[in-house]
Amino acid sequence: MGEAKRFRDQGIQFKQLQPGQQIQVDLKNATPKTCECGCKYFIPVVMVFTVSALLSPIGKELTAQLPALVCMECKALLNNKETTKPME
Ligand SMILES: [Zn+2]
Repeated sequence: MGEAKRFRDQGIQFKQLQPGQQIQVDLKNATPKTCECGCKYFIPVVMVFTVSALLSPIGKELTAQLPALVCMECKALLNNKETTKPME
């Protein structure tokens, strides 16, 4: 008797994500990032910094890596801090 109502109250069930599984997002609702030149494609690159032995905490020259994205067309660095800029 009350079976149908109980079913409705459960609502939508979400499948549990397994560890390491990526969440599927509908990119139709996402805003694509574009470069100032209008290009929408970016290449992952790595910026490498060297810290001189004088400034290094361990007294030796250090290298640090920072992943970044550059525009495929004009090679400009994608600035993540400018993503809140409204589209014109
Ligand atoms: Zn560009």
